[in-house]
Amino acid sequence: MPAVVLENICKQYGEVVAAKNVNLEIEKGEFVVLVGPSGCGKSTILRMIAGLEEISAGQLFMEEKLVNDVAPKDRGIAMVFQNYALYPHMNVYNNLAFGLKMRKFSKLEMEERIQKAAKILGLQDLLKRKPSQLSGGQRQRVALGRAIVRDPQLFLMDEPLSNLDAKLRVQMRAEISKLQKKLGVTMIYVTHDQTEAMTMGDRIVVMEDAEIQQVATPEEVYRQPSNRFVAGFIGAPAMNFISGKIRKEGGCSYFLVEQELKLELETAQAKIITEKGYNDKEIIFGIRPEHITVAETDISINTIHTIVGLAENMGSEYYVYFNIVKQELIARLQLKVAPQVNDHITLALRAREGHFFDVKTGEAIRCA
Ligand code: ADP
Ligand code: MG
Repeated sequence: MPAVVLENICKQYGEVVAAKNVNLEIEKGEFVVLVGPSGCGKSTILRMIAGLEEISAGQLFMEEKLVNDVAPKDRGIAMVFQNYALYPHMNVYNNLAFGLKMRKFSKLEMEERIQKAAKILGLQDLLKRKPSQLSGGQRQRVALGRAIVRDPQLFLMDEPLSNLDAKLRVQMRAEISKLQKKLGVTMIYVTHDQTEAMTMGDRIVVMEDAEIQQVATPEEVYRQPSNRFVAGFIGAPAMNFISGKIRKEGGCSYFLVEQELKLELETAQAKIITEKGYNDKEIIFGIRPEHITVAETDISINTIHTIVGLAENMGSEYYVYFNIVKQELIARLQLKVAPQVNDHITLALRAREGHFFDVKTGEAIRCA
């Protein structure tokens, strides 16, 4: 039985469509991450699940029960927000106790729950401190603690790490993932950060413009993006996109960019591209910077002769910027010698490591 089901959920604020026909099933104990650029509707969806926002159309089920009109407090959920919303005048203990007092828990039960949450989160020595006497990470933990003491089945988190510095964010990322597994709860986590999504989620829901673009495991989203938006949004530095044409020559199919680049397609790629009618048509080829390498042989097929536009030293590798007919691309290269601007370089690209997209729709062209 899925924990949460969204069926054709829509949300409109006047003229603004914030969620459009959102369909999603979340299993019990699953960690699902909603990811997408700012304004794509992530918070709106989370708030509708929490019951903080009315659903314009569609149905929301929790444990198979229709909950569109169930009050937030009766949904068995806990939500953690970006700004933590701790009470500044209360110490940690009372911040943790507040929600329980409101729900009229007994003193004993309250004490037990707070001590348990404090132990899980390593807050035992901080219970008497005020939020102002805590570090950012500790405050974050208190916010998590307030959710945990309520013993909810469903955790909702809206960009809970955005106020932390980079190092702490990485640490908390791991802590939240561990915590979710330990508690065995269902988690819906919202972020605009694709790295957070990739590292934390069992499944990722990629959104753009109020609509779901793809729902899949991190690996699948990376390896088989469903369209150009997902391909470009997941992965850093982002996937390169090159426009060119497909041409058949002597039984083989090639992707051509004027006289600069000629890639031989794999048999399976050539087959699907032919079947879908892309021969002699414009097409977009996408390849990740990590899949471009320095060419070992100086042949003209599957390579590009170019010059280094810029090289960034990333320590273990270089980000090398170059052009194919005015289209700027980036390659992640392992090089022993630092490349210099204007150096001549020959790079290898393989069609089989890339993706083809329709120019107009942006849909990935591949076997179903
Ligand atoms: P995200 O969390 O992905 O950044 P939101 O869900 O906050 O996006 O917003 C989605 C869209 O809905 C945006 O265009 C935003 O401006 C709009 N929106 C959100 N809340 C309101 C509101 N209360 N009134 C009007 N428009 C809103
Ligand atoms: Mg938001």
